[in-house]
Amino acid sequence: MSAEPLPHHLETTAIRAGRSANGASLSTPLWASSVWASPTLEHARKAAVGARAACFYGRFANPTVTAFEEAVASLEGAESALAFGSGMGAVAAVILALCSAGDHVVAQRQIYGGTQMFLQTAAARFGIETTFVDGTEAGAFAAAVRPGKTMLILAETPANPLMSVVDLDELGAVSGPFKVVDSTFATPCLQQPLRHGVDIVLHSATKGIAGHNDATLGVIAGEEELMSDIWRYAVLHGATPSPSDALNALRGIRTMPIRLARQSATALRLARFLESHSAVKAVNFPGLEGHPQHELAKRQMSDWGGLLSFDLSGGASSGRRFLEALQLAQMATSLGGPETLVTSPHLTTHAGLAPEEQLAGGITPGLIRVSVGLEHEDDLITDFAQALAV
Ligand code: PLP
Repeated sequence: MSAEPLPHHLETTAIRAGRSANGASLSTPLWASSVWASPTLEHARKAAVGARAACFYGRFANPTVTAFEEAVASLEGAESALAFGSGMGAVAAVILALCSAGDHVVAQRQIYGGTQMFLQTAAARFGIETTFVDGTEAGAFAAAVRPGKTMLILAETPANPLMSVVDLDELGAVSGPFKVVDSTFATPCLQQPLRHGVDIVLHSATKGIAGHNDATLGVIAGEEELMSDIWRYAVLHGATPSPSDALNALRGIRTMPIRLARQSATALRLARFLESHSAVKAVNFPGLEGHPQHELAKRQMSDWGGLLSFDLSGGASSGRRFLEALQLAQMATSLGGPETLVTSPHLTTHAGLAPEEQLAGGITPGLIRVSVGLEHEDDLITDFAQALAV
């Protein structure tokens, strides 16, 4: 009689998951292959007409990518996951797979700039209309749903760039549309939206999941049938993930829980330092008691994450001076890696939005977003202090 598998903590799952096709190898093999020979014509036929055929053609599936998908599904508590060539590949494929001309989407106003632009440009061009709501307002998503018309609710939590937090239980309870949560900032370590009744969790795995700035990747997770339905569109959309990037992300997953714990602790210390600095008008970090959704974040997240933003009293000119004076933190647009990165959402991630849209989203010219890395916290605080003094 075989023993029952022991229950695992998330840290253990991160180490063990995605190994089902490894054989005795501890490391997952890199399948650089884009095509496999079919042993029989019947095998080829079944692979061509079925969903997600293994060892057939690279755009359909790849064993290294499948291992990455298995690992993400285990961490999210999902039946299945599906990877894409980027986070935006995942966003675009989910929207276009589930919506048609005449359909309606409810999306959070505080959302990644690329997602907002996709909804306002490409999706709108194909006749998909979006209503943007304040995702922090109780009942806002449900109130904007048009029964029979709204196919999708799209939320992000914590959200770009003010770290606003959406109530996952409330969102999960909305009936009718598919509920999709971009959980990039949290990674599967800090929250699992599917456990709150959400249908699809989405990540730019380019960020904290891969965690080393060496992979461009997206991933979604949910029920098997829904993932297969989205795959049927995605295989034609063609935002196919690279097996090398999937391998880098799988390696990143092994250390993700300890990276996130360290980044969360350093971010809290940095947020407290910034909060007490006279040049800083406001700090946005869910771990601060003054954050508007601090209690909610405490309820639904296991830690705060490594992302924060702050507004400089001196506006755009102070922001520019500060960014250019930093010696350790580097100016770069991404997040979730070992290096501390800073950016101006006004001039980069949200630069494509109209000025009134930026202001509605709280994106002021003096706003700085920080992705806290793995450097020693004292070194970071010294660097921020000297740059604020310039
Ligand atoms: N979602 C969020 C929250 C992001 O921050 C980003 C990119 O910064 C994306 C999606 C898009 O991901 P990618 O750059 O991998 O396409």
